[in-house]
Amino acid sequence: MEDLFGQTASVKKESKNLFADVILPVPIPKWFTYRVPDEIQDKIGIGFRVIVQFGKKKILTGIVGKVHQKPPAQYVAKPIMDLLDDFPVVNALQIKFWNWMAGYYCCHIGEVMNAALPSGLKLSTESKVQLHPDFDLENPGIPIDDREWIILEALEKRDELSVEACEHLLESKSTHKIIKSLLLKRAILVYEQLKEKYTPKIETRIRLKNAYVENKEALEKLFETIAGKPKQEEVLLKYLQQVPVFHQPELNDKGLIKKSVTEGGCSPSSLLTLIKNGVFEEFKVTISRFEDRMVDHDRMGLSGFQEEALEAVKRQFESKQTVLLHGITGSGKTEIYIRLIREVMESGSQVLLLLPEIALTTHMVTRLQSVFGSQMGVYHSKYSDNERVEVWQGVLKGKYNFVVGVRSSIFLPFDSLGLIIVDEEHEPSYKQFDPAPRFHARDAAVMLAWLHQANALLGSATPAFESFHNAENGKYGYVFIDQRYGEAQLPKFHLADILQDKKKNLLKLDFTRLLREKIQEALNRQEQVLIFQNRRGYAPYISCDECGWIPQCEHCDVSLTYHQFGEELRCHYCGFKDKVPVSCHACGSQKLSSVGTGTERIEENLSLLFPEARIARMDLDTTRSKYGYQRLLEDFGAGNIDILVGTQMITKGLDFDKVTVVGIVDADRILYFPDFRSGERAFQQITQVAGRAGRRDKMGHVIIQTRKPDQLIFNQIIRGNYIDFYQQEIAERQRFFYPPFVKNIKITVKHKDRFVAEKTAKNLRNLLMDIQVKKIILGPEKGLVAKIKNQYIYELWAKLDRTGNAQTLFKQELVEKTVFLNSQKDFKGARIIVDVDPA
Ligand code: ADP
Ligand code: ZN
Ligand code: ZN
Repeated sequence: MEDLFGQTASVKKESKNLFADVILPVPIPKWFTYRVPDEIQDKIGIGFRVIVQFGKKKILTGIVGKVHQKPPAQYVAKPIMDLLDDFPVVNALQIKFWNWMAGYYCCHIGEVMNAALPSGLKLSTESKVQLHPDFDLENPGIPIDDREWIILEALEKRDELSVEACEHLLESKSTHKIIKSLLLKRAILVYEQLKEKYTPKIETRIRLKNAYVENKEALEKLFETIAGKPKQEEVLLKYLQQVPVFHQPELNDKGLIKKSVTEGGCSPSSLLTLIKNGVFEEFKVTISRFEDRMVDHDRMGLSGFQEEALEAVKRQFESKQTVLLHGITGSGKTEIYIRLIREVMESGSQVLLLLPEIALTTHMVTRLQSVFGSQMGVYHSKYSDNERVEVWQGVLKGKYNFVVGVRSSIFLPFDSLGLIIVDEEHEPSYKQFDPAPRFHARDAAVMLAWLHQANALLGSATPAFESFHNAENGKYGYVFIDQRYGEAQLPKFHLADILQDKKKNLLKLDFTRLLREKIQEALNRQEQVLIFQNRRGYAPYISCDECGWIPQCEHCDVSLTYHQFGEELRCHYCGFKDKVPVSCHACGSQKLSSVGTGTERIEENLSLLFPEARIARMDLDTTRSKYGYQRLLEDFGAGNIDILVGTQMITKGLDFDKVTVVGIVDADRILYFPDFRSGERAFQQITQVAGRAGRRDKMGHVIIQTRKPDQLIFNQIIRGNYIDFYQQEIAERQRFFYPPFVKNIKITVKHKDRFVAEKTAKNLRNLLMDIQVKKIILGPEKGLVAKIKNQYIYELWAKLDRTGNAQTLFKQELVEKTVFLNSQKDFKGARIIVDVDPA
């Protein structure tokens, strides 16, 4: 079959015996080598998509990672079946980057590819097939069997068929063989559904011919000529209603979408007549899903200290690739970014600005859009696949030289980055938990910048300890801004003692007297309030007053959260839902009460305490829809909401001038989370949410409710003393071998049978102990939540020396050992998940 290639190729070229290493979306940690057929030898290269046969049955799309002349040692290379592109969809730098990511985060390059490409660029056997343009049905020149003819003849009548449709035609499920053979005979192409997605949407519009624009007489004449044709008149009037060509002739250039003219019952055939008679003309426009905004030419001047910071950053870039910009909240980092971005773009390089997921709909993006207009692409996690493909293509074709995006935008096909900015670089949401690659977008961005020989700027008011440590030891440059822009002052902090108020009967519905007073004062002045509670739902659980029974999830080892909205119990780990029981399942008592406080209950309490206030809630439950978050923000910005209650969503990037009071309902809950980073996180979260208060001329107040007001960390937060706090915590980290002093790797073992999970984890531990590098292995221990979605969980922790190549060696062996363990009969079903630098 394979030598048929030679027969169909019109000009026989000299064979160069080329091979391609192809990256495939399969969970096997290696690349696969295929033979490059002669006729595509001149076209193929790194980054092209190809169709190959994998195993006995599968047809997969992969990406060429390397072209070379070395045949594989262990097997005879199969030929590439088809080349999909005329130009590469990913570049060599991206492949290097994927390769680095797979190695660093202990996963397979196919997994990285999967994460990197919008599914619009991937392909499966679900794809459609087309006749090959060079294939002559009359004169095939190669043997075609009956079943192949059925497909080819059907294809001749239609442009394309889905693989499913082929199966239908053949009444069999084994079409892949036939399709494969047709591919090899170069009789068909596997057609990418994506090609259509990959080309921007084209819209047909109509507009009045120029002769009628601004020409009253000509139009009046026109109306006379069509006087007897009411349907044509109707079309014309409808157009003029929406495009008043007398008052705003420039609107005619854009015209109207053709379909929209006939939508309201106007006659399509009358419209056609008008087009035929030269009244209207049809034209096509390529439209982007992202509307072009006007570029705002009036530049904001930087203040003196902003100018100094900008110069300092640039100076540092001369000797350091990465610079940490540590600027307190409200110091105006955005304007500094804008200046840097503009300079890099003017020098002809690309810029990427990473923002945490939720910050993408805030003022910052609006501001950037007003400066960079249509040169800027936005890459949002809630975008549809089409929208992603469009941004991808925009970068590829040079339409967007600047992209603002969430963590996955590091995978866009940049070829000449000059600068990557990571705003709010301390944000935990930069870390991807699931699925692999479990990468940290900040760290990956620094690596990506290095591959491009570009600069990286990390911005934060509360830097991650890892970053500050790197600045401290000189690996990164460092620039500090310690003042707010303009008149704005840092807010005034107040500690409110929950226990004291409770004793004196002053605690009402979780609110201390002080917080209640401050809220009331703000409401009286018609200012706005943010209330922070880091737990959604109504109450963390309900419990029986008689026997203490607590409803648990059926699939996870956790109690169910009570959501008053919808009157249900929900598992926050697996999404399981249940009705609220009327009586205790253990003793039958009907006395059940809800314990603890979530955002729903806070919202309810506030409406009882401040019945006249307009209150809204912002958490995962109220922002699930694509624009849910944006709508709430707009309402808040428009002043339709007095008090906004929310989870950590409200800590990020909000910049509203009327917010003067920020309340933290339960600071202890943030502090006592069982994690070595809990102190760092508490400092960050409280400082960030406090930073939302008093961002203009009005004084802001931050009220922290706690049961232990005398803790040192509060003092440090209030004085804004990040460095003190850092030094104290970092000493502890060093003493107890925590990052950034060691490299942490978390290995999670999951299985539906608890004993298999435990046994696998124990065996893995033994295997890891054999690795000849300096290390500490902890565990296995049961996970903090010991069962999730019916899977039992055991955890192992490896702590490695950061210097030398200990981690590289360890990681390589770790991957080999997990593969080995999974191939053993006893441990086959166990999932082993490796997380490097876990959050
Ligand atoms: P950060 O991100 O550092 O917390 P922002 O960039 O949000 O601070 O700036 C805080 C506020 O100050 C914003 O409302 C911003 O519009 C305003 N601001 C900052 N720099 C300038 C400037 N040079 N001119 C005018 N307004 C500025
Ligand atoms: Zn009970
Ligand atoms: Zn559950």
